[in-house]
Amino acid sequence: MENPFLNAQKQIEKTAKKLNLNKNIVELLKEPMRIIQVRIPIKMDDGTIKTFTGFRVQYNNARGPTKGGIRYHPNENLDTVKALAAWMTWKCSIADIPFGGAKGGIICNPKEMSQNELERLSRGYIKAIAEFIGPDKDIPAPDVYTNPQTMAWMLDEYEKITRKNSPAVITGKPLEIGGSKGRTKATGFGVAITIREAAKKVGLNLNGAKVAIQGFGNVGMYAAIALEQMGAKVIALSDSKGGIYNPDGISVEKAIKHKQENGSLKGLEGTKEISNSELLELECDILIPAALENQITKENANKIKAKIIAEAANGPTTPEADEILYKNGKFLIPDILCNAGGVIVSYFEWVQNRTGEYWSEEEVDKKLDEKLTRAFSKMVEVAEKEKVDNRTAAYMIAIKKVVNAMKLKGWI
Ligand code: NAD
Repeated sequence: MENPFLNAQKQIEKTAKKLNLNKNIVELLKEPMRIIQVRIPIKMDDGTIKTFTGFRVQYNNARGPTKGGIRYHPNENLDTVKALAAWMTWKCSIADIPFGGAKGGIICNPKEMSQNELERLSRGYIKAIAEFIGPDKDIPAPDVYTNPQTMAWMLDEYEKITRKNSPAVITGKPLEIGGSKGRTKATGFGVAITIREAAKKVGLNLNGAKVAIQGFGNVGMYAAIALEQMGAKVIALSDSKGGIYNPDGISVEKAIKHKQENGSLKGLEGTKEISNSELLELECDILIPAALENQITKENANKIKAKIIAEAANGPTTPEADEILYKNGKFLIPDILCNAGGVIVSYFEWVQNRTGEYWSEEEVDKKLDEKLTRAFSKMVEVAEKEKVDNRTAAYMIAIKKVVNAMKLKGWI
């Protein structure tokens, strides 16, 4: 298994060369500023005590308070959290929102835990890290296997500890307690916006374009809905239990209903079962990895047929695979731009919480579209000018801004 943090560091080194950065600055950029590791004892429903390990990594706060989701996963580990925290730093920078990057995680299997156990775990995590987070310090959000309900428990715990109302400490909250309209769909819709721009760039007509999506959670599902609305045809979908395929198209609405009723996509009428790895290599126009890291590697990169690869997940492509895809003329939309819609609307949520003025869904959607479209054209401009791949271009823009902030603050 590839170590995502080593990959994140390789991406920093590659960009630093292009930017001619001093080696001491590169050393600073290659490691997080702060790592918090905690043990969380929880009383389980059967009366036994189980102790979980949690992390919060605050990577760099030169551009503002750190920001990043919290993931619940049995394979969670510190290196993954460090990589995700680094990517958040670059993502906030390229998206042009005034945050640094962070990420959190707990090693647990939410599928084997009751709602009450998950609530106690979420509260326990906040109790353990409360002093290190806050609207002006570090602002968590949802990620894999956490959702608005998780955020609601966490907010409540934080407010109990600090004894004040503090909705801006966490984003991705339910609407009733300060969430933003348009937040739940934001990452997936943002993915579709960047695909719309990429399609214009490569001359692909989205109407009838064939799309394969790996991962049918929050991000994959909303990306599918948005792309279907844009006229594209979803031909393959998958989740952790496997994938489904129909070259003539799958109704996204029916797939959502089937997953809700059966807990998996398998068995949807009119589809054939495929594996997650087969999905990546399908004949299609647009491939969207929307699950986890390290899915496109040097082993399968040459077999990818899609013209556009939209990295809805964080870190789905290894650095070796990146070079192969670039050589093969693929148009890759790098994760730090492709899935930035979530953190952009999280920023809108934080602004609304702090001003007390709440926006309509149309306003949120319009502002999101503007920010992503602007960041996309900047990336393409730099890629063409510097003759580099899209990821390197996005990194050059993002890292340069972080370095400038550190210089102005006198860190370097
Ligand atoms: P989620 O928990 O809602 O969904 C994850 C999906 O991936 C599920 O359908 C699950 O079954 C599937 N999955 C898990 N393991 C898989 C495997 N081995 N193969 C195929 N599918 C698998 O999570 P999400 O919020 O949709 O996050 C997905 C990705 O998007 C992650 O990389 C996450 O970091 C990234 N992301 C999420 C957000 C957000 O706002 N939620 C923002 C930016 C990036």
